[in-house]
Amino acid sequence: MTKERTLVLIKPDGVQRSLIGEIIKRYERSGLKLAGMKMAVPTSEHIEKHYTVDPNWRRVTGEKTIKSYKEKGLAPPSEDPLAITAIILENLKKYIASGPVIAMIWQGVHAVKIARKITGGTEPLTSDVGTIRGDFVLDSYQLSDADGRAVRNLIHASGSVDEAEKEILLWFKPDEIINYRLVQDEILYDVNLDGILE
Ligand code: ADP
Ligand code: MG
Repeated sequence: MTKERTLVLIKPDGVQRSLIGEIIKRYERSGLKLAGMKMAVPTSEHIEKHYTVDPNWRRVTGEKTIKSYKEKGLAPPSEDPLAITAIILENLKKYIASGPVIAMIWQGVHAVKIARKITGGTEPLTSDVGTIRGDFVLDSYQLSDADGRAVRNLIHASGSVDEAEKEILLWFKPDEIINYRLVQDEILYDVNLDGILE
């Protein structure tokens, strides 16, 4: 369980806003271990592969968007989830391929859920305060859809363990992933804390 891994990307807006250090700090201090990290400018083909590794992504993201509009008493751009994600995917390709991103693998118990919690909900307007998206951005679906672009929310974090493993294969070669021991692993995971007192 302590070897669970998740993929986190700092999207181009996070790099441009000089938030790399602040963002890494938030995952690092949770106790998750950094197992891989690189900077790259992804191609739009790579972004399409990244978002479609999960066959349900198109439907789920479209439904999430419709629900979010309706909760605010607004009419969604379409009632068809797949029509919505067709546009979102095109906009995401332009957004994430627009400049350098930081790709990271974070490892530890419940890595996927812990990273999502630290990241916050997809739409910055409603992301909780204290999360990265809640603290550092102010975008909304309403504004991004009106402007014909993806919502700028600084981060990608894998949505499930299965999605994470597939995404990691897409972003990292096996020899770019490092297995190592951190001294703090003992205080996080050891059953007995023998040996602290001399
Ligand atoms: P998350 O990144 O929280 O896992 P999704 O996987 O549902 O969210 O969507 C992927 C990305 O697509 C989001 O992070 C966001 O940048 C963009 N996005 C999602 N829904 C919309 C929308 N309705 N309008 C604009 N951009 C969106
Ligand atoms: Mg997602």
